[in-house]
Amino acid sequence: MDILFAQKVLKILKSSFENFDMESMSKYIFMTGGVVSSLGKGLTSASIALLLEARGYKVAMLKLDPYLNVDPGTMSPYQHGEVYVTDDGAETDLDLGHYHRFTNAHLSKFSNATSGQVYDTVIKNERHGDYLGKTVQVIPHVTDEIKRRILLSSNHNQNPDVTFVEIGGTVGDIESLPFLEAIRQFRLKHAKDCLNIHLTYVPYLKAAGELKTKPTQHSVQVLREIGIIPDLILCRCEDPLPQEIKEKIALFCSVDKDAVIEEPDVKHSIYEVPLSLKHFGLDATVCKLLDLKLNKCNVKEWEEIVRKVKNPKKTVSIGIVGKYLQHQDAYKSVFEALTHAAVQQEAKLKIVSIDSEKFSNDQDIEEKIKECDGILIPGGFGERGFEGKIRVAKYARENNIPYFGICLGMQVLAVEFVRNVLGHSDANSTEMEPETNTPIISLLSEQSRVTDLGGTMRLGAYTTHLTKGTKAHKAYKENTVSERHRHRYEFNNAYIDECKEKGLVISGQYKEKSLCEILEIKDHPWMLGSQFHPEFKSKPTKPHPLFADFVKASINNSKGNHG
Ligand code: GLN
Repeated sequence: MDILFAQKVLKILKSSFENFDMESMSKYIFMTGGVVSSLGKGLTSASIALLLEARGYKVAMLKLDPYLNVDPGTMSPYQHGEVYVTDDGAETDLDLGHYHRFTNAHLSKFSNATSGQVYDTVIKNERHGDYLGKTVQVIPHVTDEIKRRILLSSNHNQNPDVTFVEIGGTVGDIESLPFLEAIRQFRLKHAKDCLNIHLTYVPYLKAAGELKTKPTQHSVQVLREIGIIPDLILCRCEDPLPQEIKEKIALFCSVDKDAVIEEPDVKHSIYEVPLSLKHFGLDATVCKLLDLKLNKCNVKEWEEIVRKVKNPKKTVSIGIVGKYLQHQDAYKSVFEALTHAAVQQEAKLKIVSIDSEKFSNDQDIEEKIKECDGILIPGGFGERGFEGKIRVAKYARENNIPYFGICLGMQVLAVEFVRNVLGHSDANSTEMEPETNTPIISLLSEQSRVTDLGGTMRLGAYTTHLTKGTKAHKAYKENTVSERHRHRYEFNNAYIDECKEKGLVISGQYKEKSLCEILEIKDHPWMLGSQFHPEFKSKPTKPHPLFADFVKASINNSKGNHG
């Protein structure tokens, strides 16, 4: 009897705990953007989260994207920039990369929600009959789903002190309205635990010799019309703002004058942003407004990184061979991971953009590569520029230039090797030439049956077993590692023995399916390709071992080059 009673109490407690948990004890920060896009809202959000962590608070991150795509996986890199992949295989917005690099928040499919996903859920619920005959509407059904996702993202981080929610787009966009309405409603229920930060732009008009606050006033007006009253206005600007400008914004926008804070451009690197925001008192104000204790802010590690960024002792030039180089965000995590490795070596990173479609002969390649200490071929899709990449890989292999191939870059390494070392001149990836007689890169049978484009690749974390004595093993200093994938095609094991015989090393494998994850060229200073994307896991405070080793090898090569 006693036991039954105890079980009943436990059940009641458990269920009330679960409900309570869904409501979460977290504080919430909502970040909206106004005036213009490209103000660096993601970077600013990541920086604020970093400062909160530096004050001892646990942070969860969520990016809400108002576009209708279910995820950015099917968008062109020209449209969207990089697709950031999480361990659980979600293809997400590149701002999650900033969150990863700046914070310790656990990122997963719960850390990014798009209008596409929200509507997809609502429509599925409707088909399932979950709305019990009601007319399904933006308010309350879509807004309820957005609020549910905010709570979900918070709860998937196990009791965060603060859940940071960044809303993509610019206030005034039609498509972001349901998200803004949802955060307005959210606050009604969590009145004391929410903070609205609005990021705006205060331009300096040269002709008038004046800073202009009107765009900020208008943007705040639009927010207020929707029922959102910002608690803190963060002003992007070229230089620190005079006090009277901040007071004017405070007066016109009805916020406390201490809650108008500037975010001027930084001089050397984006890593200065958190320190600059700290300097202007942003994190202290956030804590005050959220009623969080003002613990000491420890940013020592970050200051050390910025010190190294500002005082490089050498330069390392890395040539990146890709086809989306005009879009500055298309290879965001790759550039970042290279920077982390260079900063660790106290080197300044110089990126040389190499468009592989532009080569008409080997002389062109030599001309371009002469400037580079190392070559990196990042991920990519489709045949455009592929042959040029093969020629670059050949040049790097024959001339002992450090080469790092990521995903497509590993496939390039394999095709080049089989063509020019094994002598199968028709070797190719079936992505480029479906009918090739030597399909060194091809689809697994399960992939060849897939017809949908979205979310159907090998995605997310897989374990790689490293082969002792290889460059990869030496770099990682581990026997197994977990790395993230985003590709369809695989190294074809039918050629493995022939390749090994001629000096190709399989230094990493996904044993469960005997898939080749890392390839190396045996007698070469540093030529390695990974089928996964190591760039997603690099942080300024923890450069990725393969990037670190590659950049070191490139620096050594540069010493060789320049005596
Ligand atoms: N296109 C190649 C594949 O699907 C490589 C993908 C990538 O580089 N992310 O396998």
